[in-house]
Parts: sequence; C-alpha cells; structure tokens
Amino acid sequence: MLQNTQFGMSGPSVPATSISPDFEIVTTAPRVALAVTPHPDDCEGGCGGALAKWVKEFGTEAVVVMCTNGNKGTSERDMTPETLAATREVEQRAASDIVGAKDIVFLRHPDGGLEDTMLFRSQVTRAIRQYKPDLIMCIDPYRSTSHTHRDHRMSGQVALDAAFTYAWSYQHFPEQITEEGLEPHMVEQAYMWGSESPDVFIEIGDYLEAKTLSLEAHASQMSPATTEERLSRISNNATRYKDLTGIEYTEGFRRIRFGLGNLDWQLLYS
Ligand SMILES: [Zn+2]
Repeated sequence: MLQNTQFGMSGPSVPATSISPDFEIVTTAPRVALAVTPHPDDCEGGCGGALAKWVKEFGTEAVVVMCTNGNKGTSERDMTPETLAATREVEQRAASDIVGAKDIVFLRHPDGGLEDTMLFRSQVTRAIRQYKPDLIMCIDPYRSTSHTHRDHRMSGQVALDAAFTYAWSYQHFPEQITEEGLEPHMVEQAYMWGSESPDVFIEIGDYLEAKTLSLEAHASQMSPATTEERLSRISNNATRYKDLTGIEYTEGFRRIRFGLGNLDWQLLYS
C-alpha cells in the first residue's frame, strides 16, 4: 500500500531531510531496470515516471517484481483477501502495461507478511539472474525520521541484499545455476525511492500523465477523484525538488553503487 498518500512514496509524506549538494540529474537510462516493489501501486508511485520515460525514450527493459499480493489493502469489511488479491493482480498488469514494463514476477507473499527469509532472498535473486538488470529499484529501507510499512522495509532490504550478497556469486543458491540454467549476475547500482536523502533525480515532465494513469489503474486503492485531479496532485508532488534541481518535475532516488565488477573489490575479497 502507498504510504499516507494515494500518490506514492515520492509524495509529501517522505521528509527530505538531507539532500546532498552533490546530487546528479541523470539523463541516461539503464539497459534493464528491475523494480522490486512490496505492494501493487508502490512501484508506480515511486518510480513510474522514470520507468515510463526510460522504456519509451531509451528502450529500457523494465521488469517488476511484485513481492506481496496486496490482499489486505482495503477498508471494505466484506472484501475477501482472495478476491482482493486477484483484483490487484489484474490492476498491476494494467498499470505495468501503461508504464511499458516487459514483465511482472508475482511472488504472492501475503500482504503484511514479508519476512527477510532465505526463500524471499532466493526469489529476488532468481529474478536478478533471469533478467540481468544493471539497475535495481526498490524502497529505501533505511529511513530514520519517518516510519514506513513493514513490507516496504523488508522488500527494500531483500532487494539490496539479493543484488549485493547473493546474485553475483556461484556459491549462493547454486541450484539456480546447476538445475535452472541461470548464471550469477552483478547488478551495478540501486535507486531507492521514498528516501529521505535522494541524490539522483530523473526529469519526468512528459510522463506525469503516464504515472497518473498507471496509479489510476490500481482502482481498488484509489479514492474518488477525476484523472485531472490526480494529475494535478501528482504533478504538484513532482515539484518538491524543483528549488534544488532547477527542474520542474522530477522523481528522486538515493543511489547505491555496488562496485561488484571493479578490480579493487575483487582484490579485497578474493
Ligand atoms: Zn506499499
């Protein structure tokens, strides 16, 4: 579920406490971006604009790993978890179509039930080895001045750990290599949305409508509003870094460079 706002982790619910003066406006795009997201709608709120832009302008291959089935995301007492989960999967497919994602991996953990388990880590590792992203995107699990949903923290932590600790090594989950035909893969970097200290920004002015429509596809999560009203609010949210960046509409992320492929790292740990 989205955090405090219908419009995502990049919305005003996240206090930007310490934006680095060394921030970067990123104008390139990854070859493959894999977004690890806890609930249907989080990804679109957090990085929907950037993904839509990269897919359309750069031919980026975007893949979504949907960690939970979102089966608790309702205030309707008569809604069953099973019906809601099925509904939200349909909604996620529609949202990802709007963004232009190539594929969605549904892990179907119960909403509110994500744990940092070997199973969950192996699932995200498998997706990394299958799709070979140069960039993973996830929720920043290390917020310090504001609370976030437990599933958000778990998914962010496991995404980072899968990229750094597990996916690159033959020694981790070797059955994926020997039995499934996968190969180890080194992810170059992570962009985390919902961060208190973003340091990379993507201009998304032409993709506010796509972001709005992709969020609107999650109809079970939307309060009544017109598309124009939603577009207005999302656009307003996207101006929160305008004074810093000088760019009207952006999505901001905190970046981690894993450095797995560089020689220093190999010498240090070999
Ligand atoms: Zn969520």
